[in-house]
Amino acid sequence: MKRLVILGSTGSIGVNTLNVVREFPHKFKVTALTVNKNVEELAKQVSEFKPEKVFIKDEVALEEFKKINKHPVKIFSGPSGLTDIAKDDDYDIMVSALVGFAGLAPTIEGIKLGKRIALANKETLVVAGELINKLCSVHHSEIIPVDSEHSAIFQCMVGEKKDDVEKLILTASGGPFLMKSISELQNVTVSEALDHPNWSMGNKITIDSATMMNKGLEVIEAHWLFGLPQEKIDVVVHPQSIIHSMVEFIDGSIKAQLSMPDMKLPIQYALSYPERFSSSFVETNFPKLGSLTFFEPEFEKFKCLKLAFDVLNAGGTSPCILNAANEIAVSSFLKGNIKFLDIPVLIEKALNKIENHSSPDIETIFECDTITRNYLRSLTN
Ligand code: NAD
Ligand code: MG
Repeated sequence: MKRLVILGSTGSIGVNTLNVVREFPHKFKVTALTVNKNVEELAKQVSEFKPEKVFIKDEVALEEFKKINKHPVKIFSGPSGLTDIAKDDDYDIMVSALVGFAGLAPTIEGIKLGKRIALANKETLVVAGELINKLCSVHHSEIIPVDSEHSAIFQCMVGEKKDDVEKLILTASGGPFLMKSISELQNVTVSEALDHPNWSMGNKITIDSATMMNKGLEVIEAHWLFGLPQEKIDVVVHPQSIIHSMVEFIDGSIKAQLSMPDMKLPIQYALSYPERFSSSFVETNFPKLGSLTFFEPEFEKFKCLKLAFDVLNAGGTSPCILNAANEIAVSSFLKGNIKFLDIPVLIEKALNKIENHSSPDIETIFECDTITRNYLRSLTN
């Protein structure tokens, strides 16, 4: 029986993790759930999964939870509540599924305890990949990717040597605007950008998919997870999202991992690895699918993807600047304060304005995140 801490249990990954746990009641026990403010959903989760602890970030929601919750559970809150849960050495696997930079601090605590991290929060590796890898080797913590592309690559790499890899090929759906021209992108609405063709996900990652920043963040994530340079990481647009990613080896042979898109699959694998558990979440019917297609990504149209490759080259704190600027720009776009095409423009401004520090320590990363957010807010408010 593995004990799980789920960071972000009311989010899209959090809810899917609980869907997996529900299938395997004898394999997993939920010990802690953490949320921002959706306490109505949290109360239902507490009643079903009976965790020992919860963390609620929002203070108003916290009071509401105290009123509606009917089950004995220890409630954590305040600035240190989340990391306090992560630091408590009473679990086996941390499912890191907060959205954005907020996932970094608690994930580090899980790593310091030598836990398995089922990592959905790609931003952790984007902003602090070098540091995270060092911490993982010092504390013997293993990161098993939940992101579908990285799970696919991870699965293709089982039994293979890193030196035998020619390149990683990350597939990208291309999002809702794959077929639109740059001029058509000028006036796209928030609801059009949130209408992803293949995946139902949280708002932030859905906008990142529309700008293709998501694929950019995933290129950086792949670099740190698999220890390969940027030249060995390719992106190919594959609108059906059936091939989740591929690895090409030095002999020209290519391995791919395929299935109908469903995040329960990579989540389950991150929890069960090195075993596979029998489940029937997805069924892939090839005759019904008909054909799989592939395109080159358009860097001119999806400037965020190009910026992500640039910051991976530049290194230091520039991926942190890109990430923080993107989080604020996406949140401004979701509020209707800026246009879709302003997102890469604002990120580029931040990258030009804010100083890049090489080999940053954790304090420098936190400082860089704050400086960038403040700068972006001064441009968007
Ligand atoms: P989401 O917005 O649906 O959920 C985020 C969760 O985090 C919620 O439970 C929310 O309450 C909690 N949260 C947000 N901010 C918080 C804070 N400051 N403190 C405490 N809790 C907070 O997001 P999601 O789509 O589930 O994505 C989560 C992460 O997984 C992201 O990093 C995303 O890039 C990654 N990811 C998601 C998918 C997907 O299918 N949704 C796929 C691959 C990777
Ligand atoms: Mg992904």
